[in-house]
Order: sequence, then C-alpha cells, then structure tokens
Amino acid sequence: MTEFPKTDQNRINRLPRRGYYDRETIYRILDEALICHVGFVENQQPYVIPINFARMGDAIVLHGAKASRLLKHISAGHPVCLEATLVDGLVLARSIFNHSLNFRSVVLFGTGQPVEADQDKLAVLEAITEHLIPGRWREVRLPNQKELDVTSVVSIQIDQASAKIRSGPPGDNEADYALPVWAGVLPLQELPLAPVRDELMAQAVAVPGYITKYSRKQS
Ligand SMILES: Cc1cc2nc3c(=O)[nH]c(=O)nc-3n(C[C@H](O)[C@H](O)[C@H](O)COP(=O)(O)OP(=O)(O)OC[C@H]3O[C@@H](n4cnc5c(N)ncnc54)[C@H](O)[C@@H]3O)c2cc1C
Repeated sequence: MTEFPKTDQNRINRLPRRGYYDRETIYRILDEALICHVGFVENQQPYVIPINFARMGDAIVLHGAKASRLLKHISAGHPVCLEATLVDGLVLARSIFNHSLNFRSVVLFGTGQPVEADQDKLAVLEAITEHLIPGRWREVRLPNQKELDVTSVVSIQIDQASAKIRSGPPGDNEADYALPVWAGVLPLQELPLAPVRDELMAQAVAVPGYITKYSRKQS
C-alpha cells in the first residue's frame, strides 16, 4: 500500500489541494527533517517534546535516557502524534493577509513499543546517527554494553500520516498587484557552516568528506 488512507484524523481540511497521503512524499520529508516533535497526553495534559529520530521502513524510532518520561510513555503503547517541518521560504505578498511560508510538513499518528534486543537497539542507534549525518556510524566508537544498557529505544509504527506542502509565489488580491511593494519569495534552506574543530582532538585528523559535503537535501 503506497498511500495512507484518509481518515477523520489525518484528512487535511483547509486547502486540501496541498495535502499528500503517499508514502514517497511523506517519507522524503521525514528523511530530510533534522528533528521532530512528539505530542502525547498524560493525565489529560498534552505535552510536545522535540527529539531526534529516524525512519526505519514504516516506523519512526527514537532513543534517550532510561528515565525519559516520553520514552516510557511510548514504550507503554500509548498513542502519539508526531510532526516534522521543513521551511523552504518566506512568501512576501503585497498585503499582510496573503503573507505565507513555503513549507513541507508531515503529521503522523502511531503507537509505540520498546525495542529491547541489543542488536535491534544498535540498528536503531545506527539509523538515528545516519539520519543526522550519513557516514558517521562507521567511523566512531560504537556503544559498549554499559552505554547500551542505559539507553532506551522505542519504535512507533506509523498508522496514519499526511503531508502538507506549499510552494510558489504569493497569491495576492487582484487589486493589490498594482501596489509598489516588493513581492516574491525569500528562499530559506538549512545549510552547514564551516566545521569547528574540537581543540581537545589528540591528533590532527582531516575533516571527513561526509562533513565537508554535508547537506540535508534529499537527492
Ligand atoms: C533538537 C533536540 C533534539 C533532542 N533529541 C533528543 C533525543 O534524541 N533523545 C532524548 O531523549 N532527548 C532529546 N532531546 C531532549 C528532549 O527534548 C527532552 O528534553 C528529553 O527527552 C528529556 O525528557 P524528560 O523525560 O526529562 O522530559 P520530561 O520529563 O518529559 O519534561 C518535563 C518538562 O520539561 C520541559 N522540557 C522537556 N524537554 C524540553 C526541551 N527540549 N525544551 C524545553 N523544555 C523542555 C517541559 O516543560 C516538559 O513538560 C532533544 C531536544 C532537542 C531540542
């Protein structure tokens, strides 16, 4: 199944033409987003927590400290809502009302479960590392047993999802096009700056290509 079904929970109501339900579109956005925000309800109180993540097939994986309230909550099998957003530009219209953002965002719903076997935990940690910076995992010291034991890992099966995408120029009112106001799009992109060497590096190590060539853009 390449499309998530539209339900009362994931159907985009406002500007439905901007809605997408296919896995390819949704997963491209998730894979490019650096972090996500997870929403959950505990004792009738909603919380939203920012966190690193990775997508593994049709699941989102997270890791953190054993004491993490969020991870305990997800491990217990409670439903969660997760979002990730890429901002592509500021859309500057001739009227304030028609200002907007170009964006690609995903909202998904799922229920979690703990990942307990060491091999599975390592696979998740590799996925999260490679999601942040591909190429890093094979170069660094991997977690030892003690580090693995104090790390909690969860997997959230994606049950429902949608993407919403806005692109292109501003849409102004006909009468406003004559106004002498600059209008258009200021594109924005997440770009790395020059890497800053840790002064405590014991010996000179060349900056690896996966750092100098780092890009969030999905090819
Ligand atoms: C970019 C980014 C990536 C992160 N990646 C991870 C990760 O991979 N794994 C991980 O475990 N944690 C990560 N964190 C930290 C995460 O947001 C939580 O702070 C952390 O999980 C601690 O959870 P907790 O159970 O102690 O928090 P809780 O006990 O759930 O938090 C208690 C209260 O503290 C406040 N709070 C908690 N976190 C934050 C926050 N980030 N900013 C402001 N207030 C906060 C809130 O009011 C919250 O209700 C990340 C944070 C950021 C910003």
